[in-house]
Amino acid sequence: MTPAADSYDVIVIGGGPAGSTAAALLAEFGHSVLLLERDRFPRFRIGESLMPGTYDTFTRLGLLDRLNETAFPRKHSVQFYSGSGRASKPFYFSDNSDHESSVTWQVLRSDFDSLMISAASEKGAEVVHEASVHDVLFDGDRAVGVRGRFADGAIQEVRATVVVDASGQSALISRRLKIVSTEPGLRKASIYTHFARARRDSGVDEGATIIYQTEGKDSWFWFIPLQDDRASVGVVGDIDYLIQSREGDATAIFHEELAKCAPLRERLDDAEQAFPMKVTKDFSYRSKQVAGPSWVLVGDAFGFLDPIYSSGIYLALKSGEWAADAIHGAFETSDFSADRLGAFGPKLNEGMEALRKLVYAYYTKEFSFGRFLRKHPECQQGIIDILSGNVYADSVRQIFGPMAEMCELPEEISL
Ligand SMILES: Cc1cc2nc3c(=O)[nH]c(=O)nc-3n(C[C@H](O)[C@H](O)[C@H](O)COP(=O)(O)OP(=O)(O)OC[C@H]3O[C@@H](n4cnc5c(N)ncnc54)[C@H](O)[C@@H]3O)c2cc1C
Repeated sequence: MTPAADSYDVIVIGGGPAGSTAAALLAEFGHSVLLLERDRFPRFRIGESLMPGTYDTFTRLGLLDRLNETAFPRKHSVQFYSGSGRASKPFYFSDNSDHESSVTWQVLRSDFDSLMISAASEKGAEVVHEASVHDVLFDGDRAVGVRGRFADGAIQEVRATVVVDASGQSALISRRLKIVSTEPGLRKASIYTHFARARRDSGVDEGATIIYQTEGKDSWFWFIPLQDDRASVGVVGDIDYLIQSREGDATAIFHEELAKCAPLRERLDDAEQAFPMKVTKDFSYRSKQVAGPSWVLVGDAFGFLDPIYSSGIYLALKSGEWAADAIHGAFETSDFSADRLGAFGPKLNEGMEALRKLVYAYYTKEFSFGRFLRKHPECQQGIIDILSGNVYADSVRQIFGPMAEMCELPEEISL
């Protein structure tokens, strides 16, 4: 399939959660939208645990009923195990709010991303799969369209008033413009797969995300229960530690780390690995700009922090939503400047900075949630808020003073 027209109000590159959100809302505003997605869906993707903070965007997209009909396990909490095997109390999101939004989902991304891209199409965006954007076209510093290869092999140029880069870690625009900053303190790698029949808890804890630090605290695992008795399990550590200093293949390294994690090993005793280990690395970076003349970055195409708190999809949905509002405003005022299109950038950056501080805290060996909250029980609400994606709450701002007594927090990055 190739695009039906030569030019659109908006072209969105990439149909992950960020691109689908932006495309759906822009189409709903009445703009002509072309969404170009490289892959044929459904396709595998990692990043399966949602934060309750996604609720408002799902409401706006009209997806709550559909999500409620899925078999995605319900996630009520997050729990952390220390390297010595000591478990924190689960952080139940409902301790801060009894609204239904305090329960969220653990999603199989192939199903979830299909649901999201369908929403974009149903709201009127023209969605073309197997359309790989090779280049963003510029007239001076203003984006004017894209050049891509389509399923029939044809290379075609398509024009637009605004180009939204939602290409995930490809980050087409910021890499081309060389405005990407990597996080020297977060040069991480991850090895992951799914398991069938992993032991999970029951009742309200059945769908909990569990984070296990390994002995020695050089790595940590996630355990995310999924539908059909599957669980997503992955290990994360410094690239130097996990990949570069090791001789074995990904499976061997995964099992060497698992050997240092008794409570997770027990869950996997009778489990069966569902597919070969996958490896990804160097995924933490951020663009120095969220927008330029006639272009906007959303989701991972703007930046990604770290998998530890499952914030990626929340930030993808929020930035997709805010970008759609900013672009709609730009059409109303015929102002497609960087300032107008990127008006949401400082707010997005503020939320990322709060999460980034908590990421650095987790990677400080002296820090643990248990120790921190025993010393500062007044911070419990703030910790639950930030783990819920309620990142702009006053309670969240209040945790970083006390936290800085226990670990060195990073200097803030501003946009
Ligand atoms: C190891 C790991 C674990 C994670 N775990 C979690 C988690 O538990 N919870 C969570 O919320 N987040 C998690 N994340 C992050 C999460 O996966 C991402 O933040 C999220 O997918 C971002 O959505 P997006 O739409 O910006 O990008 P993506 O989901 O990457 O979507 C980008 C889309 O763009 C398409 N594309 C790319 N290049 C082109 C091109 N040239 N032309 C056309 N299309 C293109 C791709 O095919 C893709 O469909 C994790 C990340 C990692 C690395």
